Amino acid sequence: MTQSSTAGALYLSPEMESALRSAIAPAQNILCVSHVSPDGDAIGSLLGMGWILRHLGKQPTLALADKPAADFDYIPGFREIVGTSGVADDYDLIICLDASSPDRMGAVYRPAAHSQIPLLVIDHHITNTNFGSLNWVEPGCAAVCQMLVYLADALGAPLSADLCVALLTGLITDTLCLRTSNTNAHVLQAAMRLTEGGAQIQEIVARTLQSRTYAGLRLWGSVLAHATVQKRVIWATISLAQRKQVGAQEGDGEGLAGLLASAKEADIAATFSERVQSGARVVECSFRAKPGFDVSGVALAFGGGGHPPAAGCTLTGPLDAISAQVVAALQEAHQMQASGQVQPVGVAAHG
Ligand code: AMP
Ligand code: MN
Ligand code: MN
Repeated sequence: MTQSSTAGALYLSPEMESALRSAIAPAQNILCVSHVSPDGDAIGSLLGMGWILRHLGKQPTLALADKPAADFDYIPGFREIVGTSGVADDYDLIICLDASSPDRMGAVYRPAAHSQIPLLVIDHHITNTNFGSLNWVEPGCAAVCQMLVYLADALGAPLSADLCVALLTGLITDTLCLRTSNTNAHVLQAAMRLTEGGAQIQEIVARTLQSRTYAGLRLWGSVLAHATVQKRVIWATISLAQRKQVGAQEGDGEGLAGLLASAKEADIAATFSERVQSGARVVECSFRAKPGFDVSGVALAFGGGGHPPAAGCTLTGPLDAISAQVVAALQEAHQMQASGQVQPVGVAAHG
């Protein structure tokens, strides 16, 4: 058995492999979709799936409800991503990537038009609700892009340079450049194969994790000044007014929860970010936990999802009331987990 097939066998059972083949083989026109507010794994797995399907002679439509950040325009095929208006009613198959529940597909998925079409869910969130007609959910994988390396092997699609750049992007962004607690030998092996195939870690890091706007940095500055730590939970709120004050656009200042999580005085970090979504004010909640703690349960309880060390939810209501309510829930979860009343989930993953 080769090194690559060893890892594949671990995360892709023969039964699932044959179910995936049976789902994909007869389909020609395939809609691929990932989650709203797309991150590197959403965009990388969407574009990567596109390259795998094209290799198999299929015609994929790659759709995202929210416009992907131009930072990712170095990934081959980026310009072919369509928005909601580019999505038709009729497909042979829908493949949903990196989304833990159907609402995460946003307006791309219209139940009235699409509910009769087979839906293949490929995801690594422990909170996945198994909403597809076929669900390949593997929380042991650090990114959906890692899963697609095994899928490419299984379907006989070569790791072309285009595919490698797409897949390494998701693997690098979801693991914060191979630093998260779920970065094991299989993640490194997948990263090695993608690097051998023509993708470069340093280029991806420079375009994603190491790239911020001045307005985003100024937003961090103003927000950090008001961060609060209490009962081992650190949090900060980001209002629309604060964004406006520093000239921050949508997407500027992302990643602050991860920075807050580096505080020695806390085990759990949260940011509460006011946003306008389809004309309504919402609060995007982003949680991070240190190893041994688990924020996925609180996210799930508030209608969101994620992984033990990184999770989130989107709520409607006033920023201060929401942050107070959610912080109380996080502090309660922390207390239970610290006292051993609730065992945190062992598997760790991000993104
Ligand atoms: P973020 O804090 O946005 O980087 O997200 C961390 C993790 O939580 C990712 O795995 C997301 O998929 C998940 N997540 C964030 N917001 C939501 C949400 N509103 N619903 C479900 N999952 C979410
Ligand atoms: Mn994601
Ligand atoms: Mn992911």
